[in-house]
Amino acid sequence: MNDVAGKRSSEDEGLIFSTQRYSIHDGPGIRTTVFFKGCPLRCRWCSNPESINPYPELIFRAARCDGCGRCIPVCAPLAISKGEGCIQLNRQKCDRCLKCIDACYTEALESTGRYYSLTEVLGECLKDEPFYHNSEGGVTLSGGEPLYQPAFATNLLKACKEHGLHTTLDTSGQVKWEVFERALSYTDLVLYDIKHMDPEAHREGTGVTNELILENLQRIVSGKRNRVWIRVPVITGFNDSPENIKKVADMASRLKVEKVSLLTYHEWGRTKYDAIGREYSLQNMAPPSNETMEALAEKVSSRGIEATIDY
Ligand code: SF4
Ligand code: SF4
Repeated sequence: MNDVAGKRSSEDEGLIFSTQRYSIHDGPGIRTTVFFKGCPLRCRWCSNPESINPYPELIFRAARCDGCGRCIPVCAPLAISKGEGCIQLNRQKCDRCLKCIDACYTEALESTGRYYSLTEVLGECLKDEPFYHNSEGGVTLSGGEPLYQPAFATNLLKACKEHGLHTTLDTSGQVKWEVFERALSYTDLVLYDIKHMDPEAHREGTGVTNELILENLQRIVSGKRNRVWIRVPVITGFNDSPENIKKVADMASRLKVEKVSLLTYHEWGRTKYDAIGREYSLQNMAPPSNETMEALAEKVSSRGIEATIDY
């Protein structure tokens, strides 16, 4: 294992795969969203497949490769070979040293995920401070699962609060309670993902059952410290039944959460699967129709909870 692949997140350094400024979908107002790499779930519809593994990864876009071959000699494990018009990449042999990236002028080879210091990430977040104050926005930690890097995520939330910024944590909920507890001290709003109310269906779609997720949500709400919005990615044939959404709405009503956002499944992340060498398992899955989304939103609002339809 080389230095890049063997590195770990710490309280001062985190593995981030993207930072998005002027974000308006990840909490109130104008926000900067910091995307953490690493996730305990394996959702079949994941639109950010590059967020899943907790280490930097090699991206290869064949359409950008002109077959020049400069990357071949720098690859010690012989993972790259000549192909028809472009290279062949054998990911079984690749040890993720990422040395080939420097040899590639066309950006056919790139990495996703880099370690950043707390100072660097905070500096990026502070760039738009005036916009946050004018729009009641702030900083959102998303991913992947931000709390998969608990020390760094908590320190970033804390640093944001020390600078007077509003903080939002977008979480899968699949996190040990002790980890949540520390992070919640510095969190204003929690965006809490609920994928399915049935434990076995949840396992089938995400790789884990939902007990811990539902238990953590109950504890967060009981703590009365944080505002909570539930988010449901609506996936055709998986969780879009009126019965399932009714159960979400009943829980939201019982827990008195502020809002339920229904997120329309889309295929925008699909091309990323090839680039990162993952198989896309939802071939030909249609997004839910507007009528379906509206009917599901109506189910939620009929329980007295604000419902929104988002992407
Ligand atoms: S990252 Fe690039 S150079 Fe390193 S082993 Fe993989 S293909 Fe070879
Ligand atoms: S260096 Fe880049 S453009 Fe050249 S063969 Fe390798 S991947 Fe293709």
